[in-house]
Amino acid sequence: MGTLPMRETGEDSRETKREDHMPISCRILMLVFVSLWMNLVRGSVAEAVEWTSGVAKVKITPDEPVWMAGYASRNGPSEGALVDLYARALVLTDARGHRMAMVTLDLIEIPDALRDMLLDVALNKHGLRPEQVLLNVSHTHGGPMVSAKTVADWGIDPVWGDRAEHYVRTLVSRVDQLMGLAISGQRTAKVRYSHARCGFAMNRRLPTDGGFRLGPNPDGPVDHDVPVLRIEGANGDLMGLVFGYACHNTALGDTRQLHGDYAGFAQRKLEGDHPETVALFLMGCGGDQDPAPRRDLHDAEQNGLALASAVEAGLSAAPITLEPVLSSSEEMCPLAFSALPERSVLESRAQSGDGFVARHARWILQQWPNPGDQPADYLLPVQVVVLGQRLTLVALGGEPVVDYSLRLKRELAREGSPIWIAGYSNRVNAYVPSRRVLQEGGYEGTEAVIYQSLPCPFAGDVEERIVESVRRQVSAAWGTVLRPAR
Ligand SMILES: [Zn+2]
Repeated sequence: MGTLPMRETGEDSRETKREDHMPISCRILMLVFVSLWMNLVRGSVAEAVEWTSGVAKVKITPDEPVWMAGYASRNGPSEGALVDLYARALVLTDARGHRMAMVTLDLIEIPDALRDMLLDVALNKHGLRPEQVLLNVSHTHGGPMVSAKTVADWGIDPVWGDRAEHYVRTLVSRVDQLMGLAISGQRTAKVRYSHARCGFAMNRRLPTDGGFRLGPNPDGPVDHDVPVLRIEGANGDLMGLVFGYACHNTALGDTRQLHGDYAGFAQRKLEGDHPETVALFLMGCGGDQDPAPRRDLHDAEQNGLALASAVEAGLSAAPITLEPVLSSSEEMCPLAFSALPERSVLESRAQSGDGFVARHARWILQQWPNPGDQPADYLLPVQVVVLGQRLTLVALGGEPVVDYSLRLKRELAREGSPIWIAGYSNRVNAYVPSRRVLQEGGYEGTEAVIYQSLPCPFAGDVEERIVESVRRQVSAAWGTVLRPAR
């Protein structure tokens, strides 16, 4: 090894000497030849190493009546489907054989049991470890309950809890089938990124004299970005699309017919206009964002068409081509809870006429009976996927408020390297408020805990813990040290 550099140096000096005697025209010709040869080499390398990718979708509409998720105001089970529900998958394998699967579901949440079952199938049937799987739900409030515990916590007849568990078993076998289809259907592909904008998401935290209330707030923060990932086959055909938006999937209200809300309509429109394509919707940090307007079926359809139209705008924008290099990682970020309410407060709440309040207080008294008892930390999945060493996709668990996408995009910004922040990924059964939203109070992360079976709000450092997990993983993926957080 020690002699090699010396030998190279000697050869270099001989080359230089010989060139010195060449006529100028010869040198120019030689430069042209060398440059052509280099381009040929680069071209052949690019031809030889590509992504391979597969897409698939399967219907996951319940086959029998179910209790629907999302609105407590429903007083009976589902009555058929307005629009079918789907699970969709995109599998990407890079030039070194590194693989990941995105699985999107027209469902409201991913409770622990469902996450465990899906990850078990991914690992044991398809060889995909948890960090190689990105599960994302559209958060439609027009789908089935997927947790018997939620059915019980909401005071609904347990027969619908059994029905939810039966549905989940069917769902898991369909997702198993879906992953198999996407993996076996892989073929050579190009992967490109572009983005557009769409304006119907509106902040829903309205400041009033009595504190923050749910209501349209046109002056609150929003994220109108529509990131678009396109997967093209060898002939340039559009095999698959992934598109994101940060907005609650709740335009339609508490109808008892199953549907995928605006995101379902957007996917349907895109797949109708591009019949060979599977279009996956990846929900963003829409925890405190509502569609506007959101009165009825017409609004849901219109919002869906607006989003599909924005995706078309993204497709017509000049894309960044992502080289076939993939990395993914995941941490379970421990989020501490604030102190539980005093026992006397809980005992009085347990007598409340509001069933949700009373059941919640009784559950806490039963689970943490002794003074000083404190719930264990909540483990929030934080996943980082980097494609082509340029596109960084951060997938956060829970229902993150928009502050996360705005802050992370600002702090992680690099020239020519887009940042995509998804929420509602991998484990979804809790709002994820920012420090600001926690301090302001209101629904997300404070009042909502009783509907999500959380003992109490998260502690004040929730945002810093999540941002730190993202920065640590992004630093490792980029192989660089990030500037300190603001
Ligand atoms: Zn929600």
